[in-house]
Amino acid sequence: MTARPDLYAAALDCAASRAREWLESLLDRPIPPSEDADNVLARLGGPLPEGPTEPAEVVEMLADGVEPGLMAMPSGRFFGWVIGGTLPAALGADWLVSSWDQNSGMRYATPGTVAAEEAAAAWLVELLGLPSEADVGFVTGGTMANFTGLAAGRQQVLGDAGWDLDQHGLSGAPRVRVLVGAERHITVDLALRYLGLGAPQVVPADDQGRIRLDALADALAAGSGPTIVCLQAGNLHSGAFDPIGQAAALAHERHAWVHVDGAFGLWAAASPRLRHQLDGYHAADSWATDAHKTLNVPYDCGIVVVARPRALRDAMGSTASYLVRSEGPGDPIDKVPELSRRARGVPVWAALRSLGRSGVADLVDRLASHAGALAEGIAAIDGAEVLNDVVFTQVSATFGDDARTREVTARLLADGTAWMSGSRWRDRDVLRVSVSNWSTDATDVAASVAAVRRAAR
Ligand SMILES: *Cc1c(COP(=O)(O)O)cnc(C)c1O
Repeated sequence: MTARPDLYAAALDCAASRAREWLESLLDRPIPPSEDADNVLARLGGPLPEGPTEPAEVVEMLADGVEPGLMAMPSGRFFGWVIGGTLPAALGADWLVSSWDQNSGMRYATPGTVAAEEAAAAWLVELLGLPSEADVGFVTGGTMANFTGLAAGRQQVLGDAGWDLDQHGLSGAPRVRVLVGAERHITVDLALRYLGLGAPQVVPADDQGRIRLDALADALAAGSGPTIVCLQAGNLHSGAFDPIGQAAALAHERHAWVHVDGAFGLWAAASPRLRHQLDGYHAADSWATDAHKTLNVPYDCGIVVVARPRALRDAMGSTASYLVRSEGPGDPIDKVPELSRRARGVPVWAALRSLGRSGVADLVDRLASHAGALAEGIAAIDGAEVLNDVVFTQVSATFGDDARTREVTARLLADGTAWMSGSRWRDRDVLRVSVSNWSTDATDVAASVAAVRRAAR
């Protein structure tokens, strides 16, 4: 039996009205949640009821139960970690993806959603200036995008060394050297662990967190065998970009695979004003980025781009005989780790379609210029110091010694007007700002600087 449409109506109407109330509340609600998880659990948990409950009533109970425990992450005054908001078109598209409920692994089975993802992939590759023959996979986030790009690299460098990875696995394989900058993101290490490659060899970084070319050249020369070099576009604390083109040239002289973790920084490529910082990045072999950060689509959506489709499909492709396969552009199941999957690339299509080329460039430029304004405002506060060159969307500031910086951070969070993360960088406690929300405007920036000033008083 197919469910009668009217059975959905009440639940969806309720979800739509509660969603709108939540979004409207973002304008002036305090950023932090008003309840902790144990309190929320007390309402939502307990024994599973014996019998059924009306769908709309369940949605209503869920919204009532969860909302006090929500952080206003989509607010324009949320600058914690690296967290984007959601563009209206992307949110609408995401609702449709759930309603359509397409298991989007194969082109012939779900042509609608797979084609929308293919269109989004083609726009992305063009917008980010990546090789037109590259393969694109939509994964859950930057972590899995790093995993997938590095898996393609592992496949390629071991194959080049004459090792049959599919047949023999890693047991007895030549050791794969992985070189990373000292300030790579922790998820790179995680991805390497998933891949059985162990801990990477760490190359020193400069004062902005960029990998040092002289140290990379030395490290490359000091070893041999299958090699992967993992570079970074966008440092969490400084926003800085590794010298990707020059580093990639050094790595390629040694036949290494070059992967770029550009979870938020790769989007600089979409801005004519900021693109120069990524100089030479298109020479890499694989790139990881997030759509749920800078592009502002809902969670969870990461993107992996691999210049050599063969390496990606050898690493991720499945050949089970019960699956009917299509030729040509290939199927999502051959480009990502998952078999069953949500069409998470569809909200990317909607975000790009709603912004257009200039809209994406404006979005990225706006984030960077608000970061500059926040840095300027914070630097003007008595006792404050901005530690990084503000080249993109990230700012790291101190307010005297570590204890005082932690105190200012705690008071800022208690104030509730704005949210910024406490972190550690260059052996100091810092207040870290990440501007990642499309809706942040000059009023948010001014209110947030004023909140930091109050906290520092
Ligand atoms: C956020 C981030 C990641 C991890 O991405 P997720 O989407 O959280 O999995 C990796 N690298 C960098 C530089 C990041 O900022």
